[in-house]
This record gives sequence, C-alpha cells and structure tokens, in this order.
Amino acid sequence: MTSTMNTTASAADATNSGAAVPIMLTELRLPTIKRLWADLAAQSNREGWPAERLLHTLLGHEMAERETRRLARARADSGLPPGKSLAEFDFAAVPAVSKAHVMALAEADSWISQGHNLLAFGPPGTGKTHLLAGIGHALIDRGLKVLFMRTSELVQRLQAARRDLRLPAELAKLDRFDLIVLDDLSYARRDQAETSVLFELIAERYERKSIAITANAPFSAWDEVFPDKAMTVAAVDRLVHHSTILEMNVDSYRRRAALPARRQRSATPTQ
Ligand code: ADP
Ligand code: MG
Repeated sequence: MTSTMNTTASAADATNSGAAVPIMLTELRLPTIKRLWADLAAQSNREGWPAERLLHTLLGHEMAERETRRLARARADSGLPPGKSLAEFDFAAVPAVSKAHVMALAEADSWISQGHNLLAFGPPGTGKTHLLAGIGHALIDRGLKVLFMRTSELVQRLQAARRDLRLPAELAKLDRFDLIVLDDLSYARRDQAETSVLFELIAERYERKSIAITANAPFSAWDEVFPDKAMTVAAVDRLVHHSTILEMNVDSYRRRAALPARRQRSATPTQ
C-alpha cells in the first residue's frame, strides 16, 4: 500500500519536473539539451542507463553544438572569403610553395604565438588570396581569431578612427585577432595620412601579433604604398624581421584553368 503510494507520488513528481525542465533549460540557455532531453531521457528509462550516462550524453551534445556555433560565428566575423580553403587549393599549380610548409603554418605551429608574419607575393590570379584565406580558415578551425580585410578597407577604417581621435582604441580592438590578413597591399592609396595609419598598425603588432599580406608588387615598389622612403624601409623591416615569404611567380591560375578548354575547342574542328 505504502509502496504503491510512493510510486504514484514519484510518477507525479516526474511529470511535474518534466514539465518544468524546458523552462529551466531556456533560463539556463541550454538549447541543445532542451531539444534532446525528452528523447534521451525516454531512451535512458527504457534501457536502464546509469544517471551519469544520461547526464554525460546531454552535456556532451550541448558542448559540441556550442563549439560548432562558436566556430560559425568566428568564421562569419573573420570576413574570410567562404570556400577558399586549403582543401580546394591545388598546390601543384605553385611548385615554389611547399605544401608541407603551408600545412605547418595552418596548424599554427609557433608562428602565431610568436607574432610572426606571412607575406605572399606574385602577379594577379596566382592564388595569393586563396592560399592565405585557406590558412585563415584552418586557423579558425583551431580556435584562433582571424580578420581578413582588403588593405584599402582597413586603411579607411583606421583613418576614420584617427580623424575621430580614437586610433589607439581601434588598434586595441584589432588586438583581439591572432592574425590580420591584409589583402592586396599594393592597392592601398598613396596618401600621406592614410598610409601612415597602416604603418602604425604594423608597428603596433610588431613581434606581438601576426600580420599576413598579399601583394602584387615586390618590396622595391612599396615606395608607392607608404608616404616616404623612411617609412617604407621601417615598415618592410618590421614585416620581414620574423616572417615567411611565399613567392608565387607563376601564370595566372584562372588563365591556365581556361587554357585546356580553349585548346580543346580549337582542336575540335580539325579532328
Ligand atoms: P590572387 O590573389 O593572386 O590575385 P586569387 O587567390 O584571387 O589570386 O586566385 C584567383 C582565382 O583562382 C580564385 O578563384 C582562386 O580560388 C583560384 N586559384 C588560384 N590559384 C589556385 C590554386 N592553386 N588552386 C585552386 N584554385 C586557385
Ligand atoms: Mg588577391
């Protein structure tokens, strides 16, 4: 009799607490557990799981989905071009670039923690942006924070900050990124005030936080980028001091990719 009453009471308790669970999970911001708990609890009851197993399973799902959301957010915040991953990069097209070396950089061996830089040079269309974006994506997968921007855009942003007397605050904000990829350095406008903010970014991050740069022009042409020779020398000096340089002096990938198709088309009538 007593035991029957207890059973009834605990069944009622379970029903009551079951009703409260979704509200509590919302309050605690545990959306994955909220979605899965009822099915997993039923399975657990059916299969007689120890309580630890149910708890462990639910928490494991919540943590995994939280990590997935965090990565998606970091990728969206990074501004990295989607789809330009290392898996999609054809290393055979740039024999001078070692795949093993790039893969080591993508694993964040030690260059990121030491604030070393990465510079990719070559004519347009040789895969500089794709390669550095691919490294950026890989670093995000490893939990690092990456910002990818066209150099001209970042220069404008810093210049606006300087006008409003908040350049130091803006530089400090950029400090949360382990790596800043400046795409197309050579397209920065040659304007005294604008390009000196770029120098300030380089000087600010020197030996602390990494910068990666893509550029069409070799250093000898960087007088076009910075306002005067002294600043060019100082900028190049800081960028190169601890750096990896990838020389991508090959034919345009797009042009080469188009070639076989064209050959095929022109070959067709003679066959
Ligand atoms: P760059 O920045 O040197 O001008 P991009 O990285 O923009 O060149 O490359 C131009 C196009 O060709 C992009 O669509 C890029 O994905 C593709 N591409 C270039 N090199 C490669 C490569 N080695 N493997 C795969 N795709 C490539
Ligand atoms: Mg590019």
